[in-house]
Amino acid sequence: MKKFLFCISFIMCCTLAGCGQAKAEPVTRINTAMGTMISQTLYVTDEESADIYSKEIMQLITDLEENLLSWRLATSEVYTINQQDGNPDGIILSAQMTNIISDCLAVSEAGDGALDITIGPVVRLWDIDKWSGQDTSAYVLPTEEQIKEALENTGCKGLSLEGNTLYFPDNMQIDLGAVGKGIALQEILDYLQEAEGQNKPDAAVISVGGSVLTYGEKPDGGAWRVGIVNPANPSENIGFLSLKGQWCISTSGDYERYIEINNKRYHHIIDPKTGYPAESGVRSVTILTKDGLLSDALSTASFVLGVEEGSKLAEAFDAEALFIDNEGAIYMTDGMKQYFTK
Ligand code: FAD
Ligand code: MG
Repeated sequence: MKKFLFCISFIMCCTLAGCGQAKAEPVTRINTAMGTMISQTLYVTDEESADIYSKEIMQLITDLEENLLSWRLATSEVYTINQQDGNPDGIILSAQMTNIISDCLAVSEAGDGALDITIGPVVRLWDIDKWSGQDTSAYVLPTEEQIKEALENTGCKGLSLEGNTLYFPDNMQIDLGAVGKGIALQEILDYLQEAEGQNKPDAAVISVGGSVLTYGEKPDGGAWRVGIVNPANPSENIGFLSLKGQWCISTSGDYERYIEINNKRYHHIIDPKTGYPAESGVRSVTILTKDGLLSDALSTASFVLGVEEGSKLAEAFDAEALFIDNEGAIYMTDGMKQYFTK
């Protein structure tokens, strides 16, 4: 009898505690934040763990938006910075914001200003945030005069970061819309790496509005497959990347957020040199790298630069790039070829 009871309790312990044997299965949770869809596929041993960790990850993203990145919420650091334009003493930044702005300025400088985190006034002028899913029949295009005027208060060269102090000219505004989702990926990655608990996810695929983090190894030993959208028909993929382990993948495309007026498409990625949607001959750029912010920063900048200069920029940051041009042709950096299947 004793032996029987021992067996029962041993089986129960194994079932509840996993005995190190319980198999991690993919569980998906979908939410929204940062005005976009967040999809989390977590490899966990039970649904309860999926709920716990996916909630914590959503909280991370919400905190990031409220405390750091939002240009609308008075609680965020970006909002506070934007209130202090022209402060001759400069603005003291948090350590996280110092790193973010420093990385953005590095990409901006290497990419001849194609990534411009001061482009906010031009973005607001085009009213890009209103394009998603709203009635745009009454939309009026900005005039050349208005664009010229808005451009006067842009240009990363106006910003100067000395240690953790940002010197910031009058009438300038910071807009981290081009890197926010990548910053979120990086936060999630750091969280997963540091998370404790027996049931923490060993592996995950998390998409923040199309910027994707792959983490850990798939239990079956296979590769993660990350689809590359066909810009001519965004409901289908033109191929996929096969990846093992941890990667950050961001795509910038003209099919994500746009408006059509008189049969002309105006999309949301602005060429800081003209103030108009970039026309570099490409419809989408996908960047593959280990770093969340860089993946997002480089995808926006490379879209503005086009295939040749965009590839050089990506490679300068040890990233790989895949471009789809206006005719549907695909171009890749050499290092990308091993991952892509059409
Ligand atoms: P990316 O190429 O990564 O970035 C393009 C975006 O960056 C543009 O939308 C513009 O904001 C900016 N940009 C354009 N050109 C440049 C350039 N040359 N250099 C630098 N920046 C440029 N969307 C909503 O509809 N509603 C929301 O409430 C909302 N809240 C958000 C809150 C946060 C904290 C963040 C980070 C984003 C939010 N968004 C929201 C989405 C945001 O407005 C952008 O549309 C989105 O980040 C674009 O991402 P992307 O990957 O499509 O394009
Ligand atoms: Mg981007």
